[in-house]
Amino acid sequence: MTDATYEFGWRKFRLDVPEPWEPAHFEGDDAKGYVRLDDVYGPRLELRWGLAYREDACDTAFEQYLKGLRRDARKKKGAGVFRREPKEVALVSAWPEGMKGRVARWSAEIDCVSAVVACSVCNRLTALRVLFAAREMRTSVARRILESFRDHTASVDAPSVWSLYRMRFEVPSRWRLAEHRFGPGYAEMRFRGPGRLLADVRRWGPAEVLLRRQSLEAWYLGQLAPGVRVEAGDLDRTEVRGDEVLSFERRPGGVAAVLGRLSRGKQARRRLALVSAGWHCASTNRLWVVDVYGASLDEAREAEWRAFCHADAEEG
Ligand SMILES: [Zn+2]
Ligand SMILES: [Zn+2]
Repeated sequence: MTDATYEFGWRKFRLDVPEPWEPAHFEGDDAKGYVRLDDVYGPRLELRWGLAYREDACDTAFEQYLKGLRRDARKKKGAGVFRREPKEVALVSAWPEGMKGRVARWSAEIDCVSAVVACSVCNRLTALRVLFAAREMRTSVARRILESFRDHTASVDAPSVWSLYRMRFEVPSRWRLAEHRFGPGYAEMRFRGPGRLLADVRRWGPAEVLLRRQSLEAWYLGQLAPGVRVEAGDLDRTEVRGDEVLSFERRPGGVAAVLGRLSRGKQARRRLALVSAGWHCASTNRLWVVDVYGASLDEAREAEWRAFCHADAEEG
């Protein structure tokens, strides 16, 4: 296992995880859900969350978790017997303000570090499990993950960071993930903001294959939402951090943007303004399109989207 980590960001959760761990399963929404990260050997990290308004949420959930582990082991008899009984450990020296967390370690068919974290700021109750093969427990890896764990943004107005599959972007805090689709070489996420604001983030790779027989311009024009008519001459060209960026804007009424591309079948046709950008990230060999829709052009422009595609993104 390599020691290099990256920041995983999902639904306002942020945590540093080993680089080979990638999200493999998603469920739910901001209020209640589940996400699992795997590497080639199988599941490595699980997060399960819900909302809990009680002050004793952490203690109650933690005691229940330990009780459940022992009950399951009794039921399984031989198979589930612990090599090391579940025991509370002081792995995290200090949780961030407003958070209370308790951590346990146990070994059975696998080695596991489990934590229950309750946050009085966002009211989330999160159960985390870091999984290792039997006798492969890496306490330092688990500690790093838990110590970096955050479940809300630094302030109410601070943007939320979404970071996965080597994509990273900042979304205004009131926006919510509406839909997502991830496949080999393809990622698509739709966010909804206040009112009629909406944004689609799409990313493809590898770029060198997609651009083998066509220019960036031809490729980008081929990715426009149905009903959007743009000529090559209408595109603005800029360079951002070394990447060639093509973009255009459309006032509402100028085009009927077809939304609901992701929600198979039902396509709601609405007249919205569109601010679109497409670019080739040479250093990561990926192609990106970010489309932001709003009731007016100003609204779409001011949505404060920031998509970072390569490593020196922090400077931008
Ligand atoms: Zn919180
Ligand atoms: Zn880039």
